[in-house]
Amino acid sequence: MQTLDNSKLELGILGGGQLGKMLIEAGSDWNVRCHVLDPDPEASCAHLAHTFVCGSFKDYDTVYQFGKQLDQITLEIEHVHVGALMQLEQEGKRIYPQPGVLAVIQDKGKQKMFYEDNDLPTSAFQFIDSKEELIKLIEEDKLSFPFVQKTCAAGYDGKGVAVIRSKADLDKLLDGESIIEDLVDIEKELSVIVARNAKGATACFPVVEMEFHPTANLVEFLLSPAHITAQQEQAAIDIAVRCIEAFDMQGILAVELFLTRSGEILINEVAPRPHNSGHHTIEANYTSQYQQLLRCILDLPLGSTAARAHAVMVNVLGAEGYAGEARYAGLPECLAVEGVYVHLYGKKMTKPFRKMGHVTIIGQNEQVIREKAAFIKDNLRVIA
Ligand code: ADP
Repeated sequence: MQTLDNSKLELGILGGGQLGKMLIEAGSDWNVRCHVLDPDPEASCAHLAHTFVCGSFKDYDTVYQFGKQLDQITLEIEHVHVGALMQLEQEGKRIYPQPGVLAVIQDKGKQKMFYEDNDLPTSAFQFIDSKEELIKLIEEDKLSFPFVQKTCAAGYDGKGVAVIRSKADLDKLLDGESIIEDLVDIEKELSVIVARNAKGATACFPVVEMEFHPTANLVEFLLSPAHITAQQEQAAIDIAVRCIEAFDMQGILAVELFLTRSGEILINEVAPRPHNSGHHTIEANYTSQYQQLLRCILDLPLGSTAARAHAVMVNVLGAEGYAGEARYAGLPECLAVEGVYVHLYGKKMTKPFRKMGHVTIIGQNEQVIREKAAFIKDNLRVIA
């Protein structure tokens, strides 16, 4: 019979933000001791981790020295030093996701090539070396509007993305190596989180739908399950499973998808780690995304991903006009509502649109929880 030995319960996490915090919380149910590396001494995980190392997860030596002490390592942010992880993997450390997968995902150009090579649906694209090359293509009428420019290297929360609809948007063009994608006519933005363990078994959470804040480029409401047909749900799940299998990855992969107005499903991008489109799984599903990742790492059977209830997730963002030490207005009123679960991330300082927490609202009646979510959004405010 398989035993869960004490020696197996040490886990390194690169990144000490809110996703790490929730992973530590899930791990503590099974006595997993988490060791965290993050450059911010005030990171969400700083006072929760079994040990906290203050240092850069982008620096070779820091990551290597951190990882050398541990047998298994995971991450909550993908912009970490892959070379150090590759070295650690060669030395026999188990790393989730595998560094080879990370090397592809870190670079949006390589990611797009990967989809093309593996026959996974994504929008048409081309590579551009520089802003000058892009301007030349436009001037020579070799590139027509609209299009989307994405820098190949590090971007998040829409920061390395420019939507160029006409000449008037040219001042938004980004510098550096990038990809140019067709502007997709999006009906809905969807996400599926898929897990795969060492035996190759996979499990997908139900597909969710994301509604974005019009200016902040952050998810405002997330609905679980998504309002899509059974065929669309199955198509999204098939794509997610094919994707994690093509990567030959163990761990969890969040697959962000576009459902187009013509009914196609395209991959936008993937994240090989817990993801904000899975926050609600803590309360709304039999297994949370964090427990599912731990099950992959600890070689335990994958848990049921079935939903217990309908869920809406609302991000708690720093209110506009406030910067400084965070205070939470309206918390008692929100906590008085049935089915409301508030998660604050322990960030000391707020600023406009900073992700300070999230709230999951669950219930059996979707309309009712949508109304509660609107109430939370209007009443829970992060001020300074
Ligand atoms: P990030 O990695 O910074 O989150 P994404 O690639 O997810 O950036 O893009 C951010 C948002 O920009 C998406 O959620 C979507 O709303 C929009 N977007 C990205 N690519 C396209 C595209 N090809 N067509 C239309 N909209 C897009």
